[in-house]
Amino acid sequence: MNISADISRNLNLNEIIELDRKYYMKTFGERTPVCFSYGKGINLWDTEGRKFCDFLSGIAVNALGHSHPKLINAVKEQAEKIIHCSNLYYIEPQAKLAALLVENSCADRVFFANSGAEANEGAIKLARIYFRKKGMPEKYEIITMKNSFHGRTLATLAATGQEVYQKPFFPLPPGFRSVPLNDMDALKNAISEQTCAVMLEPIQGESGVHVADDSYIKAVRKLCDDNGILLIFDEIQCGMGRTGRLFAYEHYGVEPDIFTLAKALGGGVPIGALCAKEFVAQAFGKGEHGSTFGGNPLACAAGLAVLEALSEENLIENAQRQGRYFTEKLMELAEKHSSISEIRGKGLMIGVELNNCKAVAVKDSCFNSGYLIGSVGNNVLRFLPPLIVTKDDIDGMVNALDKALSQIEKE
Ligand SMILES: *Cc1c(COP(=O)(O)O)cnc(C)c1O
Repeated sequence: MNISADISRNLNLNEIIELDRKYYMKTFGERTPVCFSYGKGINLWDTEGRKFCDFLSGIAVNALGHSHPKLINAVKEQAEKIIHCSNLYYIEPQAKLAALLVENSCADRVFFANSGAEANEGAIKLARIYFRKKGMPEKYEIITMKNSFHGRTLATLAATGQEVYQKPFFPLPPGFRSVPLNDMDALKNAISEQTCAVMLEPIQGESGVHVADDSYIKAVRKLCDDNGILLIFDEIQCGMGRTGRLFAYEHYGVEPDIFTLAKALGGGVPIGALCAKEFVAQAFGKGEHGSTFGGNPLACAAGLAVLEALSEENLIENAQRQGRYFTEKLMELAEKHSSISEIRGKGLMIGVELNNCKAVAVKDSCFNSGYLIGSVGNNVLRFLPPLIVTKDDIDGMVNALDKALSQIEKE
């Protein structure tokens, strides 16, 4: 082996960009020109010493912000004991994390994966095997929502109701069809003898923060019950306290049969979870699902630290409180800026729709004033701050946004 890249020296931004351009696959195109080397709380510093306030949290991952002492200690301590061992053996942090998730949710059993897509892949397999074992193998079709996002593996791509992501990879696994969110008639018409489950995000994240109506979710639950089919919630982005409840389904007063988690579950350490009620979970028998890394000691120790911090530091209540404050401030901003046409979301999962197709320019302007936010297409700004966010952080963010909108409206 030849170690030609200088891996011991700290590179500057241009050197890093040069390596990336030459050696990395081009899936992310031209990235935002910044490389973070250190984070503390809500703040990040880059290789050039610039400071940023993080209102994106690695797309809803860094729920505890950066360098949270509890998460650092848990990962450090676990790394010093044992990082990985096979699922052929019992794993203490895995058993504890499964117990915590079950004790605090409607699920009875958990299976750990390494990512969101993988957790969803597990949910799809579980729904299919559940009906196969009931002697109904013809029930394999899953109805998902248009503009949903469920992942990048072939099956989760088939579940994702957005043709732009799917087209280059046809043929995709069969057994998926999508209907518009919040349209009960479309869903009723899509259900057939083949349907095994309805799968949806209570709040669609990647397509621009679209919230499922309260009455819709209740009606979907009833429709599933009436037709004897499963209800799957993808809580990969909206779960883990982000919406002001530990799980988004709690807002609706309904329980899914299966739900999936990932993003914030490990606070930045990769882990996903497939959670299900006992009557469904028991369909997975020996050898019918598995994972090499899924639920390994390191990832589960991180998950335990995240849940502990959410509870000890009242971060779910904070998400609710700061989410309300942030939304109020954004509504004030909307009175001043006619370019804001809608504010959507729950808790700290917030989308701001613009009517001027300038979302990317606004995002870039916020970046230049030291604030990281997201954009979806040309019209939606996305805010996913860590759950430790304070009123002062929000005031700073709203000022930066005010400035950005004023500047762009003048152009
Ligand atoms: C991010 C996301 C996924 C995919 O998660 P990965 O870890 O990127 O595979 C799936 N569903 C939702 C709702 C997501 O937000």
